[in-house]
Amino acid sequence: MSPDLLRTYQEMKSEIARVIIGQDQVIDEILVAVGRKPTIDALNLPAAGVETDDKGIKVDSALRTAQKHIYAAGDCSGGPQFTHWAEYEARIASRNALFKGKSKCSIRLVTSVTFTDPEVASVGLTMEEARERNKISVHTHRVRLEKVDRAVCEGEPEGFTKVVTGKWDKILGVHIIGRTASELIHIGQLAMTFGATLDALVQNVFNYPTFAEGYRIAALNGINKIKHKV
Ligand SMILES: Cc1cc2nc3c(=O)[nH]c(=O)nc-3n(C[C@H](O)[C@H](O)[C@H](O)COP(=O)(O)OP(=O)(O)OC[C@H]3O[C@@H](n4cnc5c(N)ncnc54)[C@H](O)[C@@H]3O)c2cc1C
Repeated sequence: MSPDLLRTYQEMKSEIARVIIGQDQVIDEILVAVGRKPTIDALNLPAAGVETDDKGIKVDSALRTAQKHIYAAGDCSGGPQFTHWAEYEARIASRNALFKGKSKCSIRLVTSVTFTDPEVASVGLTMEEARERNKISVHTHRVRLEKVDRAVCEGEPEGFTKVVTGKWDKILGVHIIGRTASELIHIGQLAMTFGATLDALVQNVFNYPTFAEGYRIAALNGINKIKHKV
């Protein structure tokens, strides 16, 4: 954010600020997130031959550092900075350190959630990322929550469920904004873990009325089996 914009906002803080982000947006507050860095300097890791960079301790996909008998997991090793990811890496690192064989971390399926109101949750590729990898067969399938009966019943119709698919309709990513997005994202994550295609969402029998049903409506919208406005 430019200093001018921030100053304008601070001066207007008691009122609704109007800022320009591509186009006019009316906002209540601005949260400036500056990011986090691991604090590893005091460990003097170079003395042990462990390499580091700006993101933290350098590790390979099995979470081994430059010293093959030393492992690193969690925020300090430069991956996604989430509690669930730290726990997952801890599992992989301790397994690799103690037992034969080398398990690898699969970053493809990490979920990320922003606990705002409404919640924002994602797993896998965005449409842009998917198109960069495979320009031809990428499609998105979307439903607005105003078309999901449970969301309407609960008076929470803001948001959407979006499913990104690639070749053979394989699910490559899911992106949800709305109530319970942090819970719903696990359905997409599990579907991707098992290599599901869009058809799995169409054929599944979801409880009615639920927010989860948005997956099926999004999938049906995508393949034009029903004509919801999206
Ligand atoms: C404000 C905030 C909100 C967050 N909200 C979420 C959220 O909603 N969901 C989510 O998934 N993640 C969230 N995170 C991120 C999450 O907290 C971290 O990704 C997670 O804690 C990383 O776990 P970790 O074990 O790698 O590191 P940490 O939890 O930081 O644990 C590292 C531990 O090592 C100790 N330590 C450090 N140096 C040394 C040393 N030299 N010797 C001995 N001990 C040492 C520290 O004291 C600490 O106890 C949030 C983070 C912040 C700051």
